[in-house]
Amino acid sequence: MKFWSNKAKSIEPYTYGEQPKDKKYIKLNTNENPYPPSPKAVKIIRELDENIYKLYSDPTCSEIKEAISKVYNVDKEQVFVGNGSDEVIAFSYQAFFDKGDKIIYPDITYSFYPVYSKMYDTTEIINPLNEDFTMNLKGFNQEGKGIILTNPNAPTGIALTLEEIESVIQNNLDKLIIVDEAYVDFGAESAVKLINKYNNLLVIQTFSKSRSFASLRIGFAIGNKDLIKALHIIKDSYNPYTLDTIGIKAGATAMLDVEYFDKTRKAIMSTRDRIKKELEKLGFEGTNSKSNFLFMKHNSLDGEYIFKKLKENGVLVRYFNKPRINNYLRISIGTDEEMNEMIKILKEKILK
Ligand SMILES: *Cc1c(COP(=O)(O)O)cnc(C)c1O
Repeated sequence: MKFWSNKAKSIEPYTYGEQPKDKKYIKLNTNENPYPPSPKAVKIIRELDENIYKLYSDPTCSEIKEAISKVYNVDKEQVFVGNGSDEVIAFSYQAFFDKGDKIIYPDITYSFYPVYSKMYDTTEIINPLNEDFTMNLKGFNQEGKGIILTNPNAPTGIALTLEEIESVIQNNLDKLIIVDEAYVDFGAESAVKLINKYNNLLVIQTFSKSRSFASLRIGFAIGNKDLIKALHIIKDSYNPYTLDTIGIKAGATAMLDVEYFDKTRKAIMSTRDRIKKELEKLGFEGTNSKSNFLFMKHNSLDGEYIFKKLKENGVLVRYFNKPRINNYLRISIGTDEEMNEMIKILKEKILK
């Protein structure tokens, strides 16, 4: 560690869902989409001209921004694209917050925010969720420079209504409100509708979940031009080519394939609602998830025990050994076949 910076010595990085290679698992632990990406986007990738690879990708990501602006009915200047929404969130920290600035978010939410707060030396202000894991909206009305809301929240899956989001924005006009909508396409309402009304709102989305492109690393932000400009300044001071040409072209095509997007997200929502009922019959209870995962606990068996047993039987789910949620499992929604197999294993091997 002789040559390490103080940051490298002190920071605890984000823990990602495990990706074991010892055998083939039914992988329900990282909220990936069980369906392939848009066939039109896959076709574009297959047919890319070999000459594109020697050239730098378009640093303005014009083609994919154009597609996003068309689908969300916003100006191209209101769109920023990055290498996954994690990167867009990291750039947002650098574009909008300085050392010591207070950023408010819940105790149970996406676990990357506390890592960024350490990484960029901002001050984390925790606004704990209510007992039932709903958000304490009034708790955001306190001194601070920014608020991060995940909608639907992770890993609880609980969504806020657009009215609730708007009330937080209205009550905090001097703070930047970042709404992380990684799961919004699975049953919640997007705050993109509000960006022309409020200059303190930045909405962040990703292609990793509802558009089946976790591997291509594409995230984006929509907000007023002034916020978007600051994100570009940060990006171009770090790496102008954060997206490669494959991501730009395939991403644009996937974005425009609204029909396929609707078909697959609806299939996931319907599997989710069916499997939730099945799990309830087996003694599980959980939140009203509007995302592509369920967040549930069993009425007699430990979460950690079920997690280990499922893994032994070839099913990976996510278990968080953290206060308040250490009895819960986060189960990503797979195909109907995968979910039926999980139910069968629970019935025949674990809960018998
Ligand atoms: C998955 C996820 C992200 C990150 O998505 P990438 O675009 O793959 O970086 C961001 N926020 C939340 C809440 C997520 O669940």
